[in-house]
Amino acid sequence: MHIRYLPENLINRIAAGEVVERPSAAVKELIENALDAGASAIDIDIYNGGKDKIIINDNGSGMSKEDLVAALDRHATSKLPDDDLLNISYLGFRGEALASIASVARVTIQTHDSVSGESWQISCEAGKKSGISPCAHPKGTRIEVKDLFYATPARLKFQKTQRSEYIAVKDIVTRLAMVNPSVAFKLTHDGDRKLHLPAVLEGRARLSSILGREFGENAMDIEAHRDEITLTGFAALPTYHRGTPAYQYMFVNGRTVKDKLLQGCIRAAYADVLHRDRHPVVALFLDLPSEEVDVNVHPAKAEVRFRDSQTIRSMIIGALKQAILENGTMAVSTNSAATLGKFRASYSMPSGPALPLTRSNHRAVPANYYQHHMAESNGNTAFALMPQARTDESPETVENYEPSSENYPLGAARAQLHENYIIAQTLEGIVIVDQHAAHERLVYERFKAQISERGIEKQGLLTPEIIELSDTQTQQLLEHAETLSTLGLEIEPFGGNAIAVQAVPSILGAKANIKRLVYDLADEVLDRNTAQTLEERINAILSTMACHGSVRSGRRMNAQEMNALLRQMEKTPLSGQCNHGRPTYISLSLKEIEKLFSRS
Ligand code: ADP
Ligand code: MG
Repeated sequence: MHIRYLPENLINRIAAGEVVERPSAAVKELIENALDAGASAIDIDIYNGGKDKIIINDNGSGMSKEDLVAALDRHATSKLPDDDLLNISYLGFRGEALASIASVARVTIQTHDSVSGESWQISCEAGKKSGISPCAHPKGTRIEVKDLFYATPARLKFQKTQRSEYIAVKDIVTRLAMVNPSVAFKLTHDGDRKLHLPAVLEGRARLSSILGREFGENAMDIEAHRDEITLTGFAALPTYHRGTPAYQYMFVNGRTVKDKLLQGCIRAAYADVLHRDRHPVVALFLDLPSEEVDVNVHPAKAEVRFRDSQTIRSMIIGALKQAILENGTMAVSTNSAATLGKFRASYSMPSGPALPLTRSNHRAVPANYYQHHMAESNGNTAFALMPQARTDESPETVENYEPSSENYPLGAARAQLHENYIIAQTLEGIVIVDQHAAHERLVYERFKAQISERGIEKQGLLTPEIIELSDTQTQQLLEHAETLSTLGLEIEPFGGNAIAVQAVPSILGAKANIKRLVYDLADEVLDRNTAQTLEERINAILSTMACHGSVRSGRRMNAQEMNALLRQMEKTPLSGQCNHGRPTYISLSLKEIEKLFSRS
């Protein structure tokens, strides 16, 4: 056996498996090339999930005749002027995408050179270039990729279904569009228009057109700076969430990345205000000096490696938590919109007797409902309506409410309905409070405040629990011993690979599975270098306790109690949602109410 050099085309095909493992990866490379060429409009047309054909049309700078020939060669790039691999301002730089794609597909490129004013065309089939010829291409570059992987039948067999390829293409176009709001994007699949995103000036507008207007309305601004690191973006209010983390996007220096780090940060930041199974929609843009990050761990996998991931992590969590806190008393705007929608849906008059709404329609009221009697005091002959008797269904109305409390954001309590809903009057409208959800949040925040004041109560174990771990896990967990101790967990080295648990947070209760907890902590420390699990668990328990300790629905409250609850909500951070991310109140402005009655 003797060593041979691989032929160029074989190298390209091997690289193709790496760089463009599926149609969406090819689409990503081609769009990034268009962006690097300064395009302000990019049209993407795919057929059969991109497996049959991909066409990318851009209005960028185009290529000269010489560059067009070289573009299809491996390691040919125009984007590495000073041989500096660390300082890369373009999205591409490896010079292998076009060569790889062309080695496994049928590629045709047409381009207009904006400098010479000429247009040229070249084709390449399975790595074999045709001659270059003039053509009539008006502006930018058009690249057509047919039959991707036809030259590598083994890979062709492993392509996924048209639907999953289409979804992957749409996802990558979406991500690239999010980070380039000033570029217009169009995507069609088998001729059907799928995305149409006009150029906009700022990120929120682009995100709204991708994720829906509701996200735009329910997104908090995120911004944080630390040294040369900048974090910006948008995160949904805790009351606006989805059932999957698929709508959490992160961009590092303008590149889309899929990194577990983000999901962990989001979970940590929202742990207090959102159920574990719900996921906020988030788009974050992180910009940092290129020596702080390696975004090219894998050309197609979009992973990143931060030099100091701990700093990035705490920055993201901190910024999200800060925003959640600042917007804490703000319930989701969509709720009032949805409420209005519900009202409208039932707008048609119910059959049967209409309820008394104004004095003028008193004749419609059934005789047994109200007693009519003449108002005597001033000889006024108008009818006054008076309730005959209070049934259980009737509202708990507040007789002596203080109009001055209307100045408060949550207003003055006027009534309690169905023994759970407080109706309050504000200067600009009305507020409906779910008293159970609101109280749950208040109790939870009180528990947490107590803990941060007095610390977590520990309970010593009669006989320490000895737990064996791996070498590194033992060592790393012990490095966190001090933090864990402030959270109520006392651990000590026990020789070899074991630790001894001396005390546990009493809040965990007598039946706590200490071993399980320590294993989880050890995994987490190894994985993310934090011991957050314990804090999360303690908070989860507090949250459950708060749920049990709070005013149940079905309890009548008097005026003072209701107003006290409203005043307390205004003072409490995060009171706009309960511990599970449900809103605690909704507000309707008079304007919205007037709309319901078609008065505006
Ligand atoms: P890279 O992007 O890493 O340089 P590619 O193989 O993706 O490598 O592209 C090779 C070269 O072809 C680029 O450096 C660029 O000069 C040129 N090129 C590719 N696509 C376009 C385009 N849409 N518009 C202008 N030039 C392009
Ligand atoms: Mg490229």
